[in-house]
Amino acid sequence: MEDKIDSTEQHATYRDRVSNVTETGKRKWVYAEQPKGWFYNLRNYFSLFYFIAFFSIPLIKVNGMPFLMLNFPEGKFIVFSKIFWPQDFFIFAVGMITAIIFVALFTVVYGRLFCGWVCPQTVFMEMLFRKVEWWIEGSYTQQQKLDNAPWNTNKIIRRGGKHLAFIALSFIIANTFLCYIISVDGLLKIVREPISEHLILLGGLLFFTFLFYAVFAFVRDIVCTTICPYGRLQSVMFDKDTMQVAYDYKRGEPRGKLSSTITTGDCIDCNKCVHVCPTGIDIRNGVQMECVGCTACIDACDTVMDKIGKPKGLIRYASENQIAKGRKFHFNSRMKAYSALLIGLSIVMTLLIATSHSIDTYVSRAKGQLYQELPNNKLSNLYNAKIINKTNQNVPIELRLENVTGEIKMITQHELILKKEALNELTFFIILDKNQVHKRDIKLKIGVYQNGKKIQTVNSTFLGPFI
Ligand code: SF4
Ligand code: SF4
Repeated sequence: MEDKIDSTEQHATYRDRVSNVTETGKRKWVYAEQPKGWFYNLRNYFSLFYFIAFFSIPLIKVNGMPFLMLNFPEGKFIVFSKIFWPQDFFIFAVGMITAIIFVALFTVVYGRLFCGWVCPQTVFMEMLFRKVEWWIEGSYTQQQKLDNAPWNTNKIIRRGGKHLAFIALSFIIANTFLCYIISVDGLLKIVREPISEHLILLGGLLFFTFLFYAVFAFVRDIVCTTICPYGRLQSVMFDKDTMQVAYDYKRGEPRGKLSSTITTGDCIDCNKCVHVCPTGIDIRNGVQMECVGCTACIDACDTVMDKIGKPKGLIRYASENQIAKGRKFHFNSRMKAYSALLIGLSIVMTLLIATSHSIDTYVSRAKGQLYQELPNNKLSNLYNAKIINKTNQNVPIELRLENVTGEIKMITQHELILKKEALNELTFFIILDKNQVHKRDIKLKIGVYQNGKKIQTVNSTFLGPFI
């Protein structure tokens, strides 16, 4: 059983439980009012961009390759339309380390900015599912009334309509999610071919549809307040200079209703900031781990301040130190330094991915082989090459000597066509005039050309006689 209580009842100063649990341990349903204001408008624009990106990225292809595909079950990853193979594991290792550093630094400086603005749970819940709920069931007070009303036609239509809409949205999201794993072509294949051939994928699709439905229809704020490990970790990463959504208690207290006779702080105890909170907390009780930094309370309070003719910002982005010293938010030197580091890390990661070769060549002299004397005053060395073609097309290539004049003579293949998505092995001789071999081993640079354009240069050595 869950207790469905107006979130303003959360107005206890200190709690020994999370915001969405009652004293007796039951679920407390959070009815959130729709915010209005500058931050909410910004979130609307941002979420529009977010949804367009989320739903369109699987449709983007470059040279016939998906722009992004993360096929974990098969261990096949495509990022920026480049296939990453097990040989590229170091990029993922660097990526993981970068991500951990990024998350830690970002959280220390910017608090829960990620939770409120980027996390799919918050963006989909607050900017899509919650809006559908307001649209079908009405405002937060109407939702409370509907909950308490007996089952009648109105309740059946509204509740049924909402859950059908939630299932439909979850189905669309699950399909898109699947496109990120098996690509849009993979999904179309399932649609076109008999279902019996794709039962596992179909099962996965239904599983994710109902998982998303359960999360957005029932679990909701519990994901942020109880399940998400990042949310739990943040309490140990915050310090007094971390930026967060904070109530200016110096300005706001002692709170009290508007009165011409009694002088109080700027907080008029209207509870608007609590009504809009999607996790049901009262930010005036200080920083709480349930706060996802969604800024809804900033908008609510700014509207109130406007109405009563007080300056905005009683609730604002600020660090604990800034609130204690009565300062406005400013970008301090620590934030600048950490941000520069975060931008640097992002650039390094992007370059690492963007500059990884689609065709990767490794050349080595054949083991145990010395040089061979040839007629016409020439010497030859035998080489093995492993060339990984990570593209989804057969690729014709050519090898050229870059820093010496000589000849490359293929043994295994005359036409160099690299098979798509495969490791191609070649054996070849490099033949040089003896007069070029003026020491025991000379450095070679071998250019790999595709359609006359150099795509890679690899280094090797040529072994000659002792001189
Ligand atoms: S919205 Fe502002 S004025 Fe109203 S209770 Fe919250 S902090 Fe006080
Ligand atoms: S306290 Fe404010 S910022 Fe935090 S979750 Fe509630 S409404 Fe959002």
